[in-house]
Amino acid sequence: MNKRGILTIISGFSGVGKGTLVKELMDKYDNYALSVSATTRDMRPGEEEGKSYFFLSIEDFENKIDNNELLEYAKYVNNYYGTPKQYVEDMLESGKDVLLEIEIQGMRQVKKIMPEALTIFIMPPTAETLKERLIGRNTETMEVIEARLRRAVEESQGIEEYDFILVNDNLEKSVDKLHQIIDECHCQSFRNKKFIEDIREGVKAFSEGE
Ligand code: ADP
Ligand code: 5GP
Repeated sequence: MNKRGILTIISGFSGVGKGTLVKELMDKYDNYALSVSATTRDMRPGEEEGKSYFFLSIEDFENKIDNNELLEYAKYVNNYYGTPKQYVEDMLESGKDVLLEIEIQGMRQVKKIMPEALTIFIMPPTAETLKERLIGRNTETMEVIEARLRRAVEESQGIEEYDFILVNDNLEKSVDKLHQIIDECHCQSFRNKKFIEDIREGVKAFSEGE
């Protein structure tokens, strides 16, 4: 089988549990690499520089755009967010499945240049649950929560563009399901062109009595 990792884009409404799911997935399974994004938003309590995000000034972020260091970037509720390019390429090449936790504009940019990327949209079990999680997290003001919910309404128009939806109900089951989806995608024939060709050539050689 081909060794290159799968670039997996995980999107979903703010507060749906993307960060939690990804953290649990990384803790439970090997073979994943999480891309750490750059952002201009303020650090939340408990977040760490270089682990949660690279927290940058607007000027430093715009320099990265100008130097073509980002695979994609977008503005989300008044802040820039972007994916450093080199890390993603290095990890895919080394065979790791790379996780990008990014919003929909970023997903569309990545799909244009890497159409083989796998895209998964995380859904709440109910709309009410989403609101409860967003408020329960207790990291944003009501004003920011409302802006994020308005953004959720906009983003909901694009859910059908994703390959899969995953309902984040029971955390442990959702983590396993996420792993299962990514793992099975390694068997897609278009990801295994070289392997298929090698086997085909081998069988042909046998059939010709070599
Ligand atoms: P996101 O990264 O999508 O903005 P978070 O991972 O910060 O969301 O999760 C938002 C809140 O929901 C957190 O308080 C988290 O503990 C909680 N949460 C996440 N997944 C679940 C789940 N499956 N069941 C119950 N609560 C969850
Ligand atoms: P948060 O501020 O809650 O950490 O993230 C806000 C939104 O930005 C989330 O939807 C998250 O997926 C998205 N995001 C985080 N990093 C990136 C990135 O590098 N690029 C893009 N396009 N979106 C990102």
